[in-house]
Amino acid sequence: MGTETTNGTMKAIMKKVAGPGLVMEQVKKPTQEDLGPRDVLVKIRRASICGTDVHIYKWDEWSQSRIIPPLITGHEMAGEVVAVGNAVTQVKVGDLVAAETHIPCEHCYQCKTGRMHICKNLKILGVDTNGIFAEYAIIPETVLWRFSPEIPLDYASVMEPFGNAIHTASVTNLLGKTVLITGAGPIGLMAIQVAKVAGASTVIVSEVDPLRIRMAQENGADVVINPAEKDLVREVYKLLGDGVDVLLEMSGNRKAFEDGLKCVTMGGEVSVLGIFGGKIEINFDALITMRGLTVYGITGRRMFETWRIADELLRTKKVDLSKVVTHILPFDQWEKGFELMLNKQCGKVVLNLD
Ligand code: NAD
Ligand code: ZN
Repeated sequence: MGTETTNGTMKAIMKKVAGPGLVMEQVKKPTQEDLGPRDVLVKIRRASICGTDVHIYKWDEWSQSRIIPPLITGHEMAGEVVAVGNAVTQVKVGDLVAAETHIPCEHCYQCKTGRMHICKNLKILGVDTNGIFAEYAIIPETVLWRFSPEIPLDYASVMEPFGNAIHTASVTNLLGKTVLITGAGPIGLMAIQVAKVAGASTVIVSEVDPLRIRMAQENGADVVINPAEKDLVREVYKLLGDGVDVLLEMSGNRKAFEDGLKCVTMGGEVSVLGIFGGKIEINFDALITMRGLTVYGITGRRMFETWRIADELLRTKKVDLSKVVTHILPFDQWEKGFELMLNKQCGKVVLNLD
């Protein structure tokens, strides 16, 4: 029972006060009495670090405008249900669960029309509510996903970002298509495997970081191009005379997006997950309209179609996340995990709380 304490407290990683950094503290352990009717108490067994957690750690402009300390951070997890509120019907004590981060209101226009992932009143776990970097967390039953028990906990913990890769890659039919993925961060890496499973004929990746270039190759990219060394557009048209059918933008880099658009064949499709962090300037007429491109903006994961696909791909081992999860650390070594993330010396970092 590794890190657990017995005196009614638990360890949690928190943004204690406004400013850079996070701290691990002993806080009150939530109990049955703290649960609302549809809340679930989850014993966290694995937690993984997301780019968002790193933004909160750094206390960048976005976090300053959004986060209200004190807050327990973290949202990617795999855990076990230990108690349920009196109106909970979808999970029971002992179930293994992961969590969708987008907590929907369930009554707005989007929620009522099958688009809960873009709820108008969306709250984000570990951003707008206390998160899961703790031994226990209270999570609404609406966002819990009971994952197949065959899925190792280390991979169940990263089902949420894996779902980003699936959502981005599945808005278009990739069967027999040529695909360019800009950015091989953890999500881009997962998208390489997803595109291959979806039947993409060729997956080209653009990435600037040496470690991630190597990881893109290990995850099955057919070609990896470093745009800092070679002209991406020229290289893509050299390989594929007509350009690529589909662009999956997963870098959040403006230049990567602009060059990526140029690589897409006339009438092709573009799926944008990357966050640019503000306005971007592109020649919309020349790059999108007059070339007849279809552009999809991707937020989060479809609830819960994406989760079902994620579960199936992991349960049947169609996707191998051992090539994406590079570090599994004890909870107490969370600072090392953040350091790895800050220095981009990793794929996904998973914290083990068992
Ligand atoms: P990440 O930052 O770890 O990965 C981005 C990768 O892009 C890095 O490996 C980086 O080296 C690479 N890159 C940077 N500049 C590049 C360039 N010019 N050309 C090619 N590659 C370049 O992020 P991640 O966790 O894998 O997430 C991918 C993106 O998706 C990020 O922008 C993130 O903010 C965004 N995101 C969006 C959603 C959503 O709901 N829309 C959810 C999660 C993440
Ligand atoms: Zn809603």
